[in-house]
Amino acid sequence: MGKYGLITMQLPPLGTNCYLLIDTDSHQAAVIDPAGDAGRILREAEQAGAEICMIIDTHGHWDHIGANAELAEVTGAPILIHELDAPMLTDASLSLARNFGGNGVGGKATRLLHDGDQIALGKLCLHVLHTPGHTPGGICLLCEDLLFCGDTLFRLSCGRCDLPGGDEAAMRASLAHLAALPGDRLALPGHGPSTRLDDERRQNPYMPRG
Ligand SMILES: [Zn+2]
Ligand SMILES: [Zn+2]
Repeated sequence: MGKYGLITMQLPPLGTNCYLLIDTDSHQAAVIDPAGDAGRILREAEQAGAEICMIIDTHGHWDHIGANAELAEVTGAPILIHELDAPMLTDASLSLARNFGGNGVGGKATRLLHDGDQIALGKLCLHVLHTPGHTPGGICLLCEDLLFCGDTLFRLSCGRCDLPGGDEAAMRASLAHLAALPGDRLALPGHGPSTRLDDERRQNPYMPRG
């Protein structure tokens, strides 16, 4: 079992949760959902002695991708996103940035992800779960006892399905997929507080009961 460090930052413009996952052995780090403050992310990585080796977007919305381009440029790290959300990185309408007055560019995808992919981060392995519903190419990531759940699962709630590309039936299936994962996990959503998967199985009204 690998050892990890985890740093959580709430970044502008919407207080999106950005996670820095660090492999303790190699000091290699993945930035998950770099919202709009590359400087802060770089400082946190430097203070932790971590080297940013990859940028992973749980989905292509503007409030999760704002620092993609700058981080990729400064660190040389690749940008990973599910194939179906990759077009959102370069289209300010698809990323919804245009609706909110941002420019919305999020760099360019370097590696396209698919359900079941495994991403090596030093001795850690991140498993990709395709969880559409909020967006067509939304993903969750499993690593050790962690579940990075993007805008799919929130504490006692779930992501919106009424935005372009949203799909309620797909969201129900994705939440059923998460409910069926083995074991309890620390669930780390794109917005709001972290939670436990077991608590969500019991209390989240959107989570299908087995
Ligand atoms: Zn979103
Ligand atoms: Zn979001």
